[in-house]
Amino acid sequence: MKIGIIICDRYYTCGGGKCLKAMKERAGGFARYSKDEPLELVGYSTCGGCPGGNVEYVPAEMIGNGAQAIHLATGLVVGYPPCPSQGYFKSYIEERYGIPVVIGTHPIPQKYYLVHQKLPSWEGMKDLRALLATEEIRKDYD
Ligand code: SF4
Repeated sequence: MKIGIIICDRYYTCGGGKCLKAMKERAGGFARYSKDEPLELVGYSTCGGCPGGNVEYVPAEMIGNGAQAIHLATGLVVGYPPCPSQGYFKSYIEERYGIPVVIGTHPIPQKYYLVHQKLPSWEGMKDLRALLATEEIRKDYD
């Protein structure tokens, strides 16, 4: 299974450590893939900064490298505020490029979880269970 990852440009210096760890452990957004199935990262880029202009183009490059799914990184979910366009990005990429888009990569770190729980950050968002994982796993991604 080949995947591409688009990160929030607010974290543009991120080295991708948590995403790669989660890919290896099949945690968070990657729990959907069997551990028996090799996972290969074929593209990694930022959205390009608000309002996310790179989302229009970068999927083509990832698909050109064989991407079969694109993940919007967990940074879009845990930023303050969470990216307001994440649902739109998913719909756009799926419609324009015909490739599944998964919201989230690594499990939500506990430190973000604790703050967002006190805020209306995730109201109306679709199923976050895979990203919330367990407290033990969230702490492991702090
Ligand atoms: S909030 Fe959304 S549009 Fe803005 S930089 Fe982050 S991912 Fe990109």
